[in-house]
Amino acid sequence: MTDIIIIGAGPAGVSAALTAKHRNKSVIVISNSAEQSNLWKAKLVENYPGCPGASGQDILKIFRKQLDDAGIEVITARALNALDMGESFSVSCGQDYYDCKALILTVGITQQSTYPGETEFLGRGVSYCATCDGMLYRGKKIAVIGLNEEAEEETALLRSIGCEVEYFDKDRAKNFEIRGGKSVTELIADGIAYPVEGVFILRSTIAPSSFLSGLELDNGHIVTDRTMKTAVKGVFAAGDCTGRPYQLAVAVGEGNTAAISASAYIESK
Ligand SMILES: Cc1cc2nc3c(=O)[nH]c(=O)nc-3n(C[C@H](O)[C@H](O)[C@H](O)COP(=O)(O)OP(=O)(O)OC[C@H]3O[C@@H](n4cnc5c(N)ncnc54)[C@H](O)[C@@H]3O)c2cc1C
Repeated sequence: MTDIIIIGAGPAGVSAALTAKHRNKSVIVISNSAEQSNLWKAKLVENYPGCPGASGQDILKIFRKQLDDAGIEVITARALNALDMGESFSVSCGQDYYDCKALILTVGITQQSTYPGETEFLGRGVSYCATCDGMLYRGKKIAVIGLNEEAEEETALLRSIGCEVEYFDKDRAKNFEIRGGKSVTELIADGIAYPVEGVFILRSTIAPSSFLSGLELDNGHIVTDRTMKTAVKGVFAAGDCTGRPYQLAVAVGEGNTAAISASAYIESK
């Protein structure tokens, strides 16, 4: 079992991974591609020491090289959820599962809210993963709300296995509500009802409330103490996902603290 799994390879995740490795812990980083870090969009970063004139992309490339040079395993995937198994955690990335003793969430700014009905029907018609759940809807009418880069590819997969797909991208509708009884029966998109048995919501990030139960949230941010400990024992969080200020130096500092705390937690067991 891996000591520490870190979700997200932005500045907070990279900092946490390097520190955990230096504390002699085995580490896996699971993250979307670097392009999906907020830092990727920064044309020029002038307030971070050590790399004057660098863009966000330059800094992320150096970060990635540091991870590779340190021999830290980086898995490019979207983590879908984590289950608290008591003394360990199991992180799902669809068909693949990874176990760890401590978990560090460095997922950046995730969407602040879920659609009405989304959490209520999660696992009862709502899914975040076409590869995992697509076969359950073979021959059935479903909707896909495609908000990430892989959405069209995942929709093609759903169609190829025989799902009848109503596809919504950002331009087709903005407001969604999922309704049903025991399971999903319809999706309301901008006021129009579509009878469906399943709704796939494909985002690059997952709301913390859907990712792991038991986290305390404040306006969508994960609440931590100064040691970056969350409300769930063995789970730590760092960076933009813990709240403002959204800054590179803050993310790096918090990532470092989270890794020190996670390492101490493992050693104390
Ligand atoms: C345009 C712009 C300019 C900026 N300029 C500056 C600046 O000049 N100076 C400064 O200090 N700050 C700047 N910032 C802010 C800075 O980029 C952020 O504070 C910093 O990137 C936060 O790091 P993070 O690691 O917390 O999150 P992020 O950098 O957002 O990284 C989080 C990573 O986790 C991934 N992830 C999320 N959920 C999952 C999941 N379920 N599974 C797998 N991976 C997941 C995300 O895709 C992302 O790659 C800027 C931000 C923007 C948008």
